[in-house]
Amino acid sequence: MILHLKDNVSDQRAGEIASELGAFSFKKEGTHVLITGASMKEVPAQYENEVSDNWVFDNDIQLASRKYQKETREVKIGDVTIGGNTKQTILIGGPCSVESEEQIRQSAELIKGLGLTSLRGGCYKPRTSPYSFQGLGLEGLKLLAKMREEYGLSVVTEARDATHIDKIIEYSDVVQVGAKAMYDQGILRACAKSNKTVLIKRGFGTTLKEFVQAAEFVLSGGNDQVILCERGLRTFETNTRFTLDLCGVAWLQEHVNLPIVLDPSHAMGLAYGVTPLAKACTAMGIDGLLIEAHPNPKVAKSDAAQQLDHGQFKEMLKEINPVAAAVGYKIV
Ligand code: PEP
Ligand code: MN
Repeated sequence: MILHLKDNVSDQRAGEIASELGAFSFKKEGTHVLITGASMKEVPAQYENEVSDNWVFDNDIQLASRKYQKETREVKIGDVTIGGNTKQTILIGGPCSVESEEQIRQSAELIKGLGLTSLRGGCYKPRTSPYSFQGLGLEGLKLLAKMREEYGLSVVTEARDATHIDKIIEYSDVVQVGAKAMYDQGILRACAKSNKTVLIKRGFGTTLKEFVQAAEFVLSGGNDQVILCERGLRTFETNTRFTLDLCGVAWLQEHVNLPIVLDPSHAMGLAYGVTPLAKACTAMGIDGLLIEAHPNPKVAKSDAAQQLDHGQFKEMLKEINPVAAAVGYKIV
């Protein structure tokens, strides 16, 4: 249950009510206090005079539910706002991993040159094998921060585990919580306490409910800057890397009030499929796309097969622009 307490209820009193009700969290929001996670079906009589509104749910999708807030939440990626009534599809582009200053600079130039605003690049890579390239770590974060400074771009980078989450929060505009990391409570709780935008990627074996529950940890902990990212599920099919769940996207758009970003690169795993999929994603009227691009994909240290080269990335943008316009959106 979510409760809004009347404006005249003090913070101290709100704390008492939250603890009496066994609530997960409470916080001041505007003039009222918001209590979340109390597992009751109706407001106990002794609190009736202190409660202004209440919402009862039959499952754990609460703050993210359109039953609580109908409109899609507005979320910032650097200076760009997505969600709400903005009708903007932000195209976040860049390499899978930050590999060198030259490589990330070429990527920043590509993004800036196309009039886009957001650069991605992983520094702490959640590789399946310990023998693969693990990322440049803090050195990579510093390179991203340098590009942000020099080119005025927002930067998106992933947290592999909770040991370096504070550094990611310090250096990035958006903390990407990867498909393998989205169950990491250390990461989610640290993101909840920060005011940084968080992009949560759906695990490849994660139900929609579990996916949104991960977002609820961040929302209920006090951070409403949360974006969901669908990046493909593991199915019986082996010809493509994963299977992009557009049905799941339609379900999220109907029931969940968080902006949605789609990642056709990791879903397909093969560069030739990325542009057609990006067009299909854009046609759904989405809040963003995450697309991997590398100055020379053949020598990329991670996800080489799926990264577009810069020429292909430019072509892809040309192809999705009219699709976005056809559904009343603008690529930014
Ligand atoms: C990535 O974005 O490079 C990445 C590792 O993504 P995912 O967590 O979806 O596998
Ligand atoms: Mn990748």
